Amino acid sequence: MSISELGNFLEGDLLEPGDRGFEDGRRLWNARFDRSPDLVARCTTTRDVKAAIDFARVQGGTLSVRGGGHSYAANSVADDGLLIDLALMKAVSVDASTRRVTVEGGVTCAEMDAATQLHGLAVPTPTVSSVGVIGAALGGGGGYLSRRYGLTLDSIISAEVVTADGQVLRVADDQHPDLFWAIRGGGGNFGVVTRLELGLHEVGPQVLSGQIIYPFDGAADHLRFFRDFMDQAPDEFQCYPFCFRVPPIDAFPAETHGKPVLDFVFCHQNPDAIDFVQPLRELGEPIIDAVGVNSYAETQTTFDANMPKGLRYTSKAHDLAELTDGAIDTMVEYVPRMAGALTAAYFDPLGRAISRVETTATPYGGRATSYGFHIIAGWIESDEDDSVLGWAGEFHDAMAAHSTGGVYVNLIADDETARIPSAYGPNYERLVELKRRWDPENLFSSNYNIAPS
Ligand SMILES: Cc1cc2nc3c(=O)[nH]c(=O)nc-3n(C[C@H](O)[C@H](O)[C@H](O)COP(=O)(O)OP(=O)(O)OC[C@H]3O[C@@H](n4cnc5c(N)ncnc54)[C@H](O)[C@@H]3O)c2cc1C
Repeated sequence: MSISELGNFLEGDLLEPGDRGFEDGRRLWNARFDRSPDLVARCTTTRDVKAAIDFARVQGGTLSVRGGGHSYAANSVADDGLLIDLALMKAVSVDASTRRVTVEGGVTCAEMDAATQLHGLAVPTPTVSSVGVIGAALGGGGGYLSRRYGLTLDSIISAEVVTADGQVLRVADDQHPDLFWAIRGGGGNFGVVTRLELGLHEVGPQVLSGQIIYPFDGAADHLRFFRDFMDQAPDEFQCYPFCFRVPPIDAFPAETHGKPVLDFVFCHQNPDAIDFVQPLRELGEPIIDAVGVNSYAETQTTFDANMPKGLRYTSKAHDLAELTDGAIDTMVEYVPRMAGALTAAYFDPLGRAISRVETTATPYGGRATSYGFHIIAGWIESDEDDSVLGWAGEFHDAMAAHSTGGVYVNLIADDETARIPSAYGPNYERLVELKRRWDPENLFSSNYNIAPS
């Protein structure tokens, strides 16, 4: 098939540099990467995706696949070759009676929440609302609901996958079970997932949520308190101790501008749980105490403003078996030296429902992890690259002493591909075998790649 034949065949658009929409297709959340494919296939149907895959397989060149465009490592857009852009595939369909939702490849967390919350139902998803549901689910997908209901991938019931050889398959427990296993953590290595069916859970629509922000000078004690508090908290409660430098905006008192703070950002699925969170509000004199009954959908947008599209970013992460004093002290040491206008570091309480699933039941390797650690460094100008990357690298190296050696695959940075096997632990070899079977030529290589050999 020639380029013009592909263009005529697609129900969506085939775009070249200079065409309207080409820039939208290639731009990513992380503006540190400015990649330009030769062609962007803005697909609108599974038939389009299959045609684009068949074209790429025959023509050669790098094939990349973009859902919500939030890859920290910018894997979803490669230079040269063909980009399959799923952003226009927006269908969401909810069946409240069977508690299932089906989403297409371009659906964001906000779009799925909007549809499912009409029924007081939800799937656990990431906490930034513009993240793609399928892009997150293929690697994991953790958020406010995960200690109660697991990762996004734990809710997958079935998927429609277009494989490297152009087959369109429904995969589920009883249909191509090996491929179904592989996509629940193995990322985009095994095909393009055009449609995902997920189980729904009762959530909201009202929850108790908010943030309590303290000056950072009490952080060592507050974080130890937080650790004990989380140990006895019910699965319905999730809280991120989020450390950042106060931006110079009116929402914060002027005397705090530029200072580091510790922000307990939380969601309790019981809107009446105000007494439970009270101790977190009494650790000292908060700079901001904004706690209340909010919609779950709104709570899902709390972090959006902290991580806007179009800045320069890096991500550095570790799995921690426990939140040790050493890990807390390392956080307390490095945060005051934070570099980058929109940089943050936090601990991510995991475990509970995530750990109740066997490690080998899906490829996700972090089932025994009780806390994640994550730096998201965000900055504006390229001449700050060295200072921000240097600070983040040192901080990350220092935290390595408290790590299990594992990492959540979706948080791996562009220069850390050697860590991919450690993200999967005992599941890595099986993923390599399945990659050999389903994509022996590594057509799907622009991702956290599991090489077939
Ligand atoms: C601001 C921000 C906040 C985040 N918060 C969280 C969080 O709270 N919890 C969490 O678990 N993760 C979080 N993440 C990580 C996020 O889960 C991953 O970056 C995820 O892969 C993003 O998916 P996407 O579709 O938006 O990104 P994309 O860049 O479009 O895709 C990411 C990867 O998935 C592949 N892919 C995407 N869609 C498909 C598909 N349909 N078929 C096959 N392959 C596909 C792409 O090729 C690429 O390799 C966050 C990321 C960012 C940038």
